[in-house]
Amino acid sequence: MATQRIIDFLDTRRPEGPCLVLDLDVVRENYLGFEKALPESRIFYAVKANPAPEVLRLLASLGSCFDTASVAEIEMALDAGATADRISYGNTIKKERDIARAFAHGVDLFAVDCVEEVEKIARAAPGSRVFCRVLTDGEGAEWPLSRKFGCVPAMAVDVLRSAKELGLDAYGVSFHVGSQQTDLSSWDRALADTSMVFRELVKEGVNLRMVNMGGGFPTRYLSDVPTAQAYGMAIFDALSKYFGNRLPETIIEPGRGMVGNAGVIKAEVVLVSRKADNDNVRWVYLDIGKFGGLAETMDEAIRYQIVTPRDGDEMQPCVLAGPTCDSADVMYEKNPYPLPVSLSIGDEVLIEGTGAYTTTYSAVAFNGFEPLRSYVI
Ligand SMILES: *Cc1c(COP(=O)(O)O)cnc(C)c1O
Repeated sequence: MATQRIIDFLDTRRPEGPCLVLDLDVVRENYLGFEKALPESRIFYAVKANPAPEVLRLLASLGSCFDTASVAEIEMALDAGATADRISYGNTIKKERDIARAFAHGVDLFAVDCVEEVEKIARAAPGSRVFCRVLTDGEGAEWPLSRKFGCVPAMAVDVLRSAKELGLDAYGVSFHVGSQQTDLSSWDRALADTSMVFRELVKEGVNLRMVNMGGGFPTRYLSDVPTAQAYGMAIFDALSKYFGNRLPETIIEPGRGMVGNAGVIKAEVVLVSRKADNDNVRWVYLDIGKFGGLAETMDEAIRYQIVTPRDGDEMQPCVLAGPTCDSADVMYEKNPYPLPVSLSIGDEVLIEGTGAYTTTYSAVAFNGFEPLRSYVI
């Protein structure tokens, strides 16, 4: 959210063009909040949410580990001061030569969701630890990650058995309950499936040791979300329910929950217009849109809070769009967004809770617009 430091920065620096301003003090608070809520879990920050070097350096200094999706992200985490034993290569879709490069960097922790991927790791990173991702229904998440990653729990048993047969360390099971997950019970369902995989493999003499509970911890957009403490309690209860007093080692991989509320995008109203004299639909065009960093407005999934200098005036719904010459560049239309009727060309607005999944989703030069600038303070 717009902290005083962010407001002061914007007031004194007056940066030109749309930009993200991210307050590191908030990231630090979030990290300490996760540590307190889940004291037994190791934290692997999901680098893709915001890979700004300042963020990675801060988290590395606080003791965080890192969940990475590519060799480039592994190198960013190493450059920020993380050692290879604090890095997980958590993407289930990897080229064999990238696995080899990660292994050469010293990374020996990999995600898989099929036997084909296990075979690549056995060849390119022999002896490494692997965890198998299981599918979740993504129910309750505003940005679901279902279908593409993971396999059914019964198949995870086969995948991990084959890992052991190929000389790898069958280390554990992972899942991701879907991003911006506000339903506390979704971890319970995923942990039920996970414990089934543990039990089946124990029967065969394969002893898994780790549960990677992924990300999904929400950030506040328009409505309040449960606290990290509430998530921690729900997760601890579910772990006890399914694993009794033989709790496995656990990992969490917060992305959005670590950086989302630390950032604010400053944007400008470029145009306010209508499509016909007698049309009552007002279109508001900003200098940022789906291609400038607000990709998560796709299907109107993530609804950001927008603060304007005219808040308090009469509000009316409008269609909110970006500045590019692509008709897909409309953020909110099916569900129009209430903004002050007095909002005018040139007004600066603040888009709150935009520290995660914005700069990295911004196109490089679509329509000649430069990528979203970011200031980390
Ligand atoms: C994206 C991702 C995360 C982070 O998810 P959030 O919902 O942003 O917390 C964690 N783990 C994996 C494997 C991911 O792909």
